[in-house]
Parts: sequence; structure tokens; C-alpha cells
Amino acid sequence: MVLQDLGRRINAAVTDLGRAPTLDEKAFDGMLKEISNALVEADVNVKLVANLRKTIKNTVKFHELPPHANKKRLIQKAVFDALVDIVNPHQNAYQAKKGKSNVIMFVGLQGAGKTTTCTKLARWYQARGFKTCLVCADTFRAGAFDQLKQNATKAKIPYYGSLTQTDPVVVARDGVEKFKKEKFEIIIVDTSGRHHQEDALFAEMVEIQSAVQPHQTVMVLDASIGQAAEAQSRAFKETADFGAIIITKTDGAAAGGGAISAVAATHTPIVFIGTGEHLLDLEKFNPESFVSKLLGMGDMQGLVEHVQSLKLDQKETMKNVAEGKFTVRNMKEQIENISRMGPLSKLGGMVPGLSGLMQGMDDEEGGMKLKRMVFICDSMTNKELDSDGKIFVQEPTRMVRVARGSGTSVREVEELLSQQGMMAQMAKRMKGMAGAQGKGGNPM
Ligand code: GDP
Repeated sequence: MVLQDLGRRINAAVTDLGRAPTLDEKAFDGMLKEISNALVEADVNVKLVANLRKTIKNTVKFHELPPHANKKRLIQKAVFDALVDIVNPHQNAYQAKKGKSNVIMFVGLQGAGKTTTCTKLARWYQARGFKTCLVCADTFRAGAFDQLKQNATKAKIPYYGSLTQTDPVVVARDGVEKFKKEKFEIIIVDTSGRHHQEDALFAEMVEIQSAVQPHQTVMVLDASIGQAAEAQSRAFKETADFGAIIITKTDGAAAGGGAISAVAATHTPIVFIGTGEHLLDLEKFNPESFVSKLLGMGDMQGLVEHVQSLKLDQKETMKNVAEGKFTVRNMKEQIENISRMGPLSKLGGMVPGLSGLMQGMDDEEGGMKLKRMVFICDSMTNKELDSDGKIFVQEPTRMVRVARGSGTSVREVEELLSQQGMMAQMAKRMKGMAGAQGKGGNPM
């Protein structure tokens, strides 16, 4: 997707700065210009980009930096923070509560991905132990109820809809009432978004909203909408006052920056992003993780969350991560899980360093690469596996032995250890951040 190119360009701009013969104000300004261009080309709102540039300049205060300051590190951090700020609404989204009926209503234009995303979200909650159901209030599109029925049946989620009732307000109200009586905890209401005239669309939305009284209204935005995202989300916000955004089709060729800027325009948190057509292609959105992934720094939190949702046995790794540790054995477990979790193209970005390593590889090549990594781990002793990896640096002959035993090269062993090292650093950082979590971008 184009956002990956954006990440690559921003990264390259920062890296080039580190390589410049003299890191002076001119080089710093050049980097800012390149980052700004990349963002504008990715459809991020021009005003936001100008602000970001100003913020980075004001944070770094280049001419006031002491001569021995680690300029590159400071600049890198300022860039990271400014990017996070663009997608951080500084507002928390609604948190669904267990033991009560939480009604979530979807709004958005037809084709944005509402029906698909409703089922994905229902599955997400179901996997987390909520009693979940779907209501189809799209009475316009002939195939809408069928589509929802099919998706819901596949995901084993109870649903409600009507082939005869033409008033979406009645269907929505009846469905929500029925499921509330049956003590469902998550009731997701899909709406149509079909009206071409905004007035009629918004009038219907408001009627459904007052009939079902949702705890959370979610606007679904197609990533490919570009600069129009801002006007559209403002219009929806004024009428439906949604409290959260889900951006779909982030796997497509769209620049995506427009949709992402909508968060700043409406001060509304993005709660999830859709990353494909499959039921599992829904990722929880977190500003730090998103930027981290965008810049190829991995997304430890996202990975942990994804693994949890798949209910794999991760106790040992979780315990270590909670303690700020990440051993070679933990790395091996992650690689094995990733192989099981498939499609690699989706997961590579979550593991620090992996997206870079897998760059340009298709899923098959990537799969082979992961297999070789597991062979490497299989040739290690228990002592090595349970170490933090430094043992290999202290005694490099170990790497030669492992490479020989696994039929790989020393370079591959080094690569694996350097990734594990990055994960270990991130685990350490996460432990440090544990107290500061939940500041924004929370799930519903
Ligand atoms: P609705 O009219 O808003 O209910 O939209 P649909 O749910 O019917 O989706 C429209 C099309 O977008 C369908 O073909 C979906 O499969 C597709 N779609 C939805 N979300 C995603 C996504 O995250 N990635 C991709 N690639 N396609 C998606």
C-alpha cells in the first residue's frame, strides 16, 4: 500500500540526515521538506503538514542544541511524536462493558465497507468473550441482508433482518429490542448509506439513531477517498455525531493520508483499520503502534494483541514481555506463530525489522525465510534459546556452529539475533511505558 511508501520515504529522510557529512540546520530543513512532501503526496491535509513541520522545528530548536547532543536521536523522536500527534485525537473512544447491552451503530457511504466491517468487528468482540450479534438495517440494497447473513453465518454470529419490512428504522428498532431482551452484550447495527442526496441519508441516519439510541456511532471511511475525507467526515459528524472512525481498505493502493487526516478534522479516534476482505483483516488502531509500523519499527503491541485474539499459548512470552524481557526462545515462538497466522504480508510489519527483511518477497518466499529462521533456532542449545542473545556476541563461534547445524549462513543467524535484539529493546521500552498507556486511541 502507498502508506508503506510514505513510511519508507520518511525513514529515508531521517536516515539520510544521519549520513549527511555535517548535520547542520540546512540538512535538518531538507529533511523536513522531504517529510512534508511525502505526507502531502500521501494526501495528508496540507495544513496538518505545515503544523507538523512547525512542531518539529519548535521541538528540536536546532540552533539551540548543545554541540554534543545526539541530534539524530532528538530529531527522530520529534518526527515520531509529531506523526503520532496527527493520528491521536486526545480523546478516548467508548469502551464496551461486559454484562450490559452495548449498541454500536455503523454509518458511512455505500461501498465504504460497512457490512463487511460490521461482521469483522462482531467477530473481534466475540473472540474476546462478548455475546455478540448483528442487525441489518439496510433495506435498500437488495443483497445487503443476504451479504450480512452469509458473513454472520460464516462467523457463527446471530443476526436480525427482514426481507419484507422496508422501513430501516423499524427493522433497526425491532432487532435491537429483540437482542437486548436476549441479553446480547454487543449489538451492531448496519445501516445503508445509499441515499445519493445527503439530506435524505442524514435524515434516515438520525431517525435510526434516535430509535436505537446507540452507545457508540462508528463512521466507516474508505481509505481511498483522499482529500474528500475531511469534508465527508465533517458532514457526518455534524449530523450523526459519531464517536469513532474505522478506516477500511488500507491494504489497497490508496494514499490513505486523507482518511487518516479525518481524525484531526473531527477530533475523533480511529478505533480499527480494515486491512483486507477477510473476516480477520481488522486491526485495532493505536497511534503509537501505527506510526511505529509505518516507519518500519514494528508493532509489538499489535502483535501481542493479534496473538492473543488467536488464542495461542503465549503465556511464557507474555510473562517475559511484561517483565521487559524477550529471549531468543520467545523470538522462535513468534516466528512459529507468524507462520501459523498467515498471510505474511500482513504480519511482517508488526515485527520490528521483519518488514524490511521481507521487503519485496511474496508470501511463499517469506514463508521459506521464516522456516529457515526456525531451523536456526532448532540448532541452538537451551541455554542459548533462553538467553537475551548477548551470549552470541560474547562467543561468536556459537553463530558459526548454529549456522552449520541449521544449513544456513552466519549472516542469517546474525539477522535473526538482531531482530530478537530489537524486540528485546522494545519489550524493555514497553515495560517502561506500561504506566503511561491508555492515553488515547483506545478500542471501543
Ligand atoms: P457497504 O456498502 O458500506 O456495506 O460496503 P461493503 O461492506 O459491501 O464493502 C464494499 C466492498 O469493499 C466489498 O467488496 C468488500 O469486500 C470491500 N472491503 C471492505 N473492507 C475492505 C478492506 O479493508 N480491504 C479490502 N481490500 N476490501 C474491503
